[in-house]
Amino acid sequence: MVADGKLGFATRQIHAGQAPAPGAGALALPIYQTTAYAFPTAERAAAYFDRSREGFIYSRTGNPTVAAVERRLASLEGGVGAILFASGQAAVAATVLTLAGPGDQIVASSKLYGGTTNLLADNLAARGIRVDFVEGPADLDAWRAAITPATRALYAESISNPNADVADIEGLAGIAHGAGVPLIVDNTLPTPYLTRPIEWGADIVVHSVSKFLSGHGTVIAGAVIDAGSFDYGAHPDRFANFAGQLRHFDGIELLRDYGRGGRLSPTGANVAFLVKARVEQLHDFGADAAPVTAFLIEQGLETLSLRIRQHVANAQAVAEWLEGHAGVAAVHYPGLASSPQHALARKYAPEGPGAVFSFEIRGGEAEAHRFIDALRLFTDAANIGDVRSLVIHPYSTTHSSITEAEKRASGVTPGLIRLSVGVEDLPDILADLQRGFDAIGFAA
Ligand SMILES: *Cc1c(COP(=O)(O)O)cnc(C)c1O
Repeated sequence: MVADGKLGFATRQIHAGQAPAPGAGALALPIYQTTAYAFPTAERAAAYFDRSREGFIYSRTGNPTVAAVERRLASLEGGVGAILFASGQAAVAATVLTLAGPGDQIVASSKLYGGTTNLLADNLAARGIRVDFVEGPADLDAWRAAITPATRALYAESISNPNADVADIEGLAGIAHGAGVPLIVDNTLPTPYLTRPIEWGADIVVHSVSKFLSGHGTVIAGAVIDAGSFDYGAHPDRFANFAGQLRHFDGIELLRDYGRGGRLSPTGANVAFLVKARVEQLHDFGADAAPVTAFLIEQGLETLSLRIRQHVANAQAVAEWLEGHAGVAAVHYPGLASSPQHALARKYAPEGPGAVFSFEIRGGEAEAHRFIDALRLFTDAANIGDVRSLVIHPYSTTHSSITEAEKRASGVTPGLIRLSVGVEDLPDILADLQRGFDAIGFAA
């Protein structure tokens, strides 16, 4: 394995966290399709179980194929470690539940993926975790005002799905740390190639790996990457759940043994959050990613920078073309100089704010449906981040299960259309979109 500290992004997306495998020396990442692992001795088995030694026990809590992808993602985001989950939803849920319990509160941006809104607003509320949504996520004073003694984390999407709102990560990190809580950033849309939230002060990064990271629309997976930056021991009033013994493990204290310099931390980094999440969430709830899924993710990661550059170039051109089109009422792409988000996008994603954004056609739901049904290159699908161009009508699909008020807060109107611009040839992409406009009476 190449020591990755000084290597560039494109080098790490191919090499970080993986060496030729022992045995036959397989160069590609082997798929360890195994449930369990042979212990060399009963004494070693006991050491794995009491955590005095690191080793694979059972694939629900760790697998070599999955572990290689976890190391790669940690390297690309600049974290101390990562956990791969069965889905982005599982990763987000595990993150929040590692930090918060009944009576606690999370402060979140209102500009979120619909599934995250469902989880935070309904499901977690039913478990006694209150989530307060900040309506204008750019308004840092509104975030400050929402924080209470019960707050356990701030939560935002670096670039939001579907409207590409850009979070002021540095500003939010300052507010979070001033209050003694970590900042969680969902970095699904830009990927670490475009934005690395940890470099701006985020403590925990979550991903839907189903999207650009894997990149080919073949898997459902999620990830949590920990910066190792947040000192839970310094805020015992808020993080009593980190104090004392690690759940299920007699004699192991989470902060003492897995905090910075802890005797059980493999590199001396602060991995308390990751160990708590692995033990309480992965071990107990079992929402782990499969080895074949990890292999497919690894294949996607190897070309991440190449794909994203093409996605972004196409998205910028599409957004500019739409902005000048008679059939368009508004384009929500922060890569446009006219966007109120442009300055934030330049700061946090200087190579371009991703390839997922939405625009409003002139008309409502009926026109949006006719537009989408006329497209032939774009596929109407509930996904983003595929090499293929995808389109959807959020109001009647991805965001249909949230309330009218929540739709309004996340900017989802009846005429809104979301695009995930693929890596096909630009003229073919534009010609297809014009087909949609022709269907609702707007010539080129
Ligand atoms: C898709 C998505 C999720 C949920 O991830 P799944 O892999 O579908 O479970 C979370 N956040 C964002 C921003 C997403 O786009």
